[in-house]
Amino acid sequence: MSARKIVLTFPKNKIDKPIVHKLIKDFGLVFNIMKASITPDQEGHMVIELSGENADIEKGIKYLKDEGIKVEPLSKDIRVNWDKCVQCGACVSICPTGALYIKDRKTMEVAFDTEKCIACELCIRPCPPRAIEVHF
Ligand code: SF4
Ligand code: SF4
Repeated sequence: MSARKIVLTFPKNKIDKPIVHKLIKDFGLVFNIMKASITPDQEGHMVIELSGENADIEKGIKYLKDEGIKVEPLSKDIRVNWDKCVQCGACVSICPTGALYIKDRKTMEVAFDTEKCIACELCIRPCPPRAIEVHF
């Protein structure tokens, strides 16, 4: 059993179709809608957490893509605004995956590895200047 957070972008002609509900019925997946921004006749965005067997999650994601829905991992949508970052390092100790890390011990420069980010959002509150943002 595993869980994956993904961002779905729906073209406007798919907004009113019960596509996501098929994930439960046909693939036995559980999903939790974390955020949604859907306006009739416009492109829609949804962040969901899918839980189930890995193979079923892959099948569910393939089904969504075949339906014309863009599927991206949520990790791509955590961004650090380096113009706001004051390099305090508060996020580094809180990040459970090492996605935020000290790049250079001499300068204590902080860096972000998007590939390691699981979008848990634990780093957002402790950042004093609110330099870490979630985009979807
Ligand atoms: S969202 Fe979670 S995994 Fe990603 S950088 Fe922040 S604390 Fe690390
Ligand atoms: S907590 Fe915020 S300001 Fe401090 S290093 Fe991390 S991103 Fe930069």
